[in-house]
Amino acid sequence: MFNEAIKNGKAYETDVKLIKKDGSELWTKAKGTPEFKDNRCIRIYGTFQDIQEQKDREEALMKAQNELAEVARKFKGIFNSAFQFIGFLTPDGTLTEANESAISFAGLKPEDVIGKKFWDCHWWTISKATQEELKKNIERASKGEFIQYEVEILGKEGATTTILFNLKPLTNDNNEVFSIIPEGRLIQDIVDTRKELINKNNELSQFSTIVSHDLKEPLRMINQFMQKIDHKYSGSLDDKARQYIYYAVDGAKRMSKMIDELLNYSKLTEKDKIIELVHTNSLVNEILKGSEQLIQEKNIIVEKTDLPDINGNITGIKVLFNNLINNAIKYADLSKMALIKISCISHPSEWEFCIEDNGIGIEPENHQKIFELFYKINKYKDEDTSGIGLAICKKIVSLHKGNIRVESDLGKGSKFYFTIKKIIHA
Ligand code: ADP
Repeated sequence: MFNEAIKNGKAYETDVKLIKKDGSELWTKAKGTPEFKDNRCIRIYGTFQDIQEQKDREEALMKAQNELAEVARKFKGIFNSAFQFIGFLTPDGTLTEANESAISFAGLKPEDVIGKKFWDCHWWTISKATQEELKKNIERASKGEFIQYEVEILGKEGATTTILFNLKPLTNDNNEVFSIIPEGRLIQDIVDTRKELINKNNELSQFSTIVSHDLKEPLRMINQFMQKIDHKYSGSLDDKARQYIYYAVDGAKRMSKMIDELLNYSKLTEKDKIIELVHTNSLVNEILKGSEQLIQEKNIIVEKTDLPDINGNITGIKVLFNNLINNAIKYADLSKMALIKISCISHPSEWEFCIEDNGIGIEPENHQKIFELFYKINKYKDEDTSGIGLAICKKIVSLHKGNIRVESDLGKGSKFYFTIKKIIHA
């Protein structure tokens, strides 16, 4: 450029990076005008202006622009690859952007929907009511309300699906809504499974009521007729016959008890759960009073710390303590001084109760299985057992969002721990 000026007499202006004496670099603007005499360049008038600050600003701007482009690329990537349907609406409900999943799901092109009122777009034309509902909800979202609901929308070729749909208002510094993000997640699988589960539950509850009624009727008959035989022929029956009658009646009674317990188990559901304040201290005292006779007969020493007031379902908590305490009594080892300890410790978010005994204990391979429905350890099958008690305990604890477990060794006793959340949402 400098040579050009000398040769052709052209003024120049260019940015030049100079190396200073100390080795550092400095951006300058070099300007020069050549002076000619007899067609020969005799001098150049020129200046070097320090433009380092301007260059630094330009560089920072370029860097920011590159970063912004990178963020925009990433955003677009997420926006388009998201499994969910996502877009942007103006507060009056005009769709300004929709991601590829939303558009291709319905076999559309962007121009079919962008710029249109959202409720007039293909997805919502499944029914007038759906469109009206959306319109009303967009109105509410444009006033700052977050909206969420499940809705069935239209896909490709008349196919429909259920989505969990959100309208999220975006507000500026003055708290005014300047945009709304419509967002949908495909939940058809969940909806189907939920429906199936509700149907199954209804079927099961009908089934267990019918079965228990139908099963108990013949049992009542066995009972009744066995007792009649016992009364009518008591003179002619020998001891063996009387023993057989006793076994038959006892078997029928046990089966009837099992049916009742099974019915209670199947009735324990989330929807009946009423959460209230439960005074576990007085509740446990009451249970111990109810079992006083057995405790005395077996010479069991009971130790109990002060127990807390907790949030829970009073009927469930009562059954839980009742089953665990009665097991500790039932499976006491009478060859030694039997001991039962009931205690509770407080954790930040839950209570942990422990019912400990020094009874017959449980071998490690059965620690999980005893919580299964109808599981009884072979050796004790003849006792007055149904194998339902701990399954009920497990279900009650899980309805209270807690856990139940046992620590035990054969011959050494058992510690049954269960937790109950301090705050439970009914
Ligand atoms: P059930 O006592 O009616 O059989 P549970 O479900 O309450 O039913 O208990 C399942 C099995 O767990 C019992 O059959 C018994 O073998 C064992 N078990 C329960 N509690 C104890 C305990 N405290 N000590 C020893 N074994 C126990």
